[in-house]
Amino acid sequence: MKRLVILGGGESGVGTALLGKAKGYDVFVSDKGKIKEKYRDVLLNNEIEFEDEQHTESKILNADIVMKSPGIPDKVALVKQIRGAGIKVVSEIEFASNYTDATLVAITGSNGKTTTATLTHHLLKQELDVGLAGNIGDSFAKQILVKNHENYVLEVSSFQLDDIHDFKPKIAVLTNITPDHLDRYDYKFENYIASKFRIVENQTKDDYFIYDADDEVITAWLKNHQIQSKKLPFSLTKEIEEGAYYKDKNIIITIDNNKITMPTENIALEGKHNVKNAMAASTVAHLLKIRKQTIRESLENFQGVEHRLEHVLKINKVQYINDSKATNVNATYFALESMDAPTVWIVGGVDKGNDYKELFPFVNEKVKAIICLGVDNKKLFEAFGNMVDIIVETQYMSEAVKIAYKVAKAGDNVLLSPACASFDLFENYEDRGRQFKDAVRNL
Ligand code: ADP
Repeated sequence: MKRLVILGGGESGVGTALLGKAKGYDVFVSDKGKIKEKYRDVLLNNEIEFEDEQHTESKILNADIVMKSPGIPDKVALVKQIRGAGIKVVSEIEFASNYTDATLVAITGSNGKTTTATLTHHLLKQELDVGLAGNIGDSFAKQILVKNHENYVLEVSSFQLDDIHDFKPKIAVLTNITPDHLDRYDYKFENYIASKFRIVENQTKDDYFIYDADDEVITAWLKNHQIQSKKLPFSLTKEIEEGAYYKDKNIIITIDNNKITMPTENIALEGKHNVKNAMAASTVAHLLKIRKQTIRESLENFQGVEHRLEHVLKINKVQYINDSKATNVNATYFALESMDAPTVWIVGGVDKGNDYKELFPFVNEKVKAIICLGVDNKKLFEAFGNMVDIIVETQYMSEAVKIAYKVAKAGDNVLLSPACASFDLFENYEDRGRQFKDAVRNL
């Protein structure tokens, strides 16, 4: 019996444990932290051996294969030891994809993964048997075991790609690349870029690669590297012969001379970035032969994903918008760009080395007041202090929203788009977004 050791007892770890057990492995789960009760119960009920708050080397270094959860960095001593011992290390998508013949659509990028994956799933599910997995909801491994869909849309992070060997999506989507998570890539942007492009490394000429042709990081990489898959670029700015582009408020997609045109006027998603996401998702749908009418209707009735430019409430003709998931400058760039009215902007948190310059034009043009919501707001005051009349700080969401309420006039927007991580004042971005929504509802 082969021994499968799983590092990390979260969603992907426990899913892999279940699948591994079903496939006849001797499974052991080890987590340095505390395993959540709901996962502990699953392990106990399925008689899978595990430990938490420790790593027992003798039970780990005898593995034939190790599944490392995406949250565990390579620099951890135990991981080095495992690799040093020549044990094969895989990610969950790598492990799980060995046990399915489903058509895989894998979506990666620095921003827009969840939105694009959820939208793609929404378009496909109208006509196909399709699951949504990866960084969303139930793990891919668990779904293969219990649902076994014919198709999967997978949200794939660079950490999942770092430990693939044979993972080969039929359709790969790369939404964009901007610097992120560099602490996990030796602070080298090129390492992070290379990690993202691993999504195409096992593809052949019968597979497809959909990507943003306006993204200079992506196009520069493609100039210098050969890939096997068929390229289907999308663009907001130029006409594309094979692939998708945007013109006169229409998305035009051409694949093998088969051209379809989708009006975007009635789609609920806002902002240019979401036109990009819609182009990517519709290209997948067109490739998988979803009817034009279905794509069109589904684009129109897709309501977006929580915490991503989510419209919360309109109070006294002021629109409150929750974009708590904007944890980097690029995401906030598109949020501010999409604002069509004077905006009271709530920003701040844990700054990951932000350069705010690219936001200056939008702040000058659209932002009437800034509310800094972080423990340390010095950098925000320095960057924006002389750009707006009102700039204040607070450490409480309820207070931030009350100030916004006072400052905003009929017709304005109040936008939470922090450009920063949330961990100084909140548990995570979901907690931050929920607190925002609660505060708005309490006004
Ligand atoms: P991810 O899963 O990659 O973090 P999300 O879909 O959760 O992406 O969106 C994260 C943030 O980025 C949100 O603030 C969202 O409005 C913004 N965003 C969504 N799509 C894009 C895109 N294509 N380019 C830039 N920002 C985007």
